[in-house]
Amino acid sequence: MAFQKTIKSEISFTGIGIHTGKIINIRLIPAQRDTGVVFYRKDKGVSFKAKLPFVIDTSLATTIGFDGIKIRTVEHLLASFHALGITNIIVELDGGEIPVMDGSALKFVEAILQVGIAKQGKTMPILKITNPFIYEEKFSRVSVFPHKGFRITYKIFYEHPLIGEQTLSMDINGTNFVREIAPARTFGFLRDIQYLLKNGFARGGSLDNAIVLDEKGLVGSSLRFRDEFVRHKILDALGDFSLLGYPLQGHFVIEKGGHTAHVNFLKNLLQAGCFELTEEPYFSFSLSPQTV
Ligand SMILES: [Zn+2]
Repeated sequence: MAFQKTIKSEISFTGIGIHTGKIINIRLIPAQRDTGVVFYRKDKGVSFKAKLPFVIDTSLATTIGFDGIKIRTVEHLLASFHALGITNIIVELDGGEIPVMDGSALKFVEAILQVGIAKQGKTMPILKITNPFIYEEKFSRVSVFPHKGFRITYKIFYEHPLIGEQTLSMDINGTNFVREIAPARTFGFLRDIQYLLKNGFARGGSLDNAIVLDEKGLVGSSLRFRDEFVRHKILDALGDFSLLGYPLQGHFVIEKGGHTAHVNFLKNLLQAGCFELTEEPYFSFSLSPQTV
């Protein structure tokens, strides 16, 4: 089991949606026990939970929705809640996309740590992997194995001089998430941008909110980590895996993954049933504020 948590006070952000190009106002509101992570489209008067059945699209970003109302690019905000152990919160917004901020989860995490996280005196079960499970599609493979904590190993390969093969394996807790994963920005290739724009994506993308690569190297910016690319993939996975709705215990190994593979893996994992919901004490998500 893990303790249910929320934020200590409200937080507001304004920013551009990387795919819609629209300016969106968002408010994070503390929520009662057992609320879960709830999105509320204020402009439409519709709310729904950040859970797997509400995923309606996974091309380039994870989109959740209900009854024709959608919210794009939820993954970086959800990753922040997941890694900081926030289980009850209302995300109110006046448009169809979570602002991309600087392309990472850093702004969300900094603001949450500034207001603080409150334990709510009630526990929830954790989802513990009990047997290995492997899911494969096209070039991607996502596997999971029993493990005492919550670990992610991510492997990517891009034929590009700055990326190539990158592998990173780490036990996830609040402290190392804040330092090692939250600052890693999303990335894209200049050669794809024309195609993305034509298909209604990346309208709000810029050098201020993404790492952009041409054939030889970086366009404009510098990297925050040499392996920022694989770190960002871990960020995306944390956001997508939060859609199971429980703290996780297991070792997740993802090879050449993306949002589609992450979400399809989760659906298949639920069907395969190689897990149990347990009240055992939870190891991860301990965040010591003085180390941040
Ligand atoms: Zn991302």
